[in-house]
Amino acid sequence: MDTPFSHYRDGGRTLLGPARGGESSRHGYGLPVLEQCGHDCAYCGRPLGEPYENWLDFSIDHVVPSNTLNLRYPKEWVNDLINLVTSCRACNEFLNQYKVTDPPPANLEEFCAIRDRHFQEKRARALARHAHERMLYERWRAGSGGRGSGPTVVLGGVSLSRDDVVRAIATFDREFPGTGSYDDWLAKESYKYALHHGGKVYPPKRILSLASGVRVQRFNGGSQTNHLLRSLGFKVTDKSAR
Ligand SMILES: [Zn+2]
Repeated sequence: MDTPFSHYRDGGRTLLGPARGGESSRHGYGLPVLEQCGHDCAYCGRPLGEPYENWLDFSIDHVVPSNTLNLRYPKEWVNDLINLVTSCRACNEFLNQYKVTDPPPANLEEFCAIRDRHFQEKRARALARHAHERMLYERWRAGSGGRGSGPTVVLGGVSLSRDDVVRAIATFDREFPGTGSYDDWLAKESYKYALHHGGKVYPPKRILSLASGVRVQRFNGGSQTNHLLRSLGFKVTDKSAR
């Protein structure tokens, strides 16, 4: 069965002792869980060991939840390391209300079977919830709650709005103010097209790269670049036809 417990000491089938110590999971009782379960969220696979921001999202989850103590599940099993997994805060929150109603296990083997079954169920629920959250997120990003209203385009996996491009143009203006190194870009043979904005012209591919963070070597100038910019409502022309 596909669970993290097979990697635990003794295959996660004999008691390892309770997780304890320290004032929080990150500085104490979570560390022995990391040792058994690894640094990735057991449910969604998100790496939590690094960078720092991910580390802040590290938490531990009781696979068979603590509320089973009310069903007379043995405390020393529920709180043992064999019942604990590495979890990101999001999965932990998604699974917060998860209930186990199986009658109390007669022995540790039965407990482990209950744990394995509910782990699979919890992972399926967490992944389904992530898919739902992601869909809502994409909708938010594309709508007025995100980075400006209007259409978005995708370049190299990065979603871009018109506002992003306008910000990139402002950055470009700061980088090459008035007279400067870029004033002659229109004269350069390698620049075939011109992006029009605010009465000025700009190199389309360079602007799109600035807006997306995708390096110019990784996408095509010309039709790809021009199509994306036009989809966001910009005017792009052949530079000779300005
Ligand atoms: Zn997760």
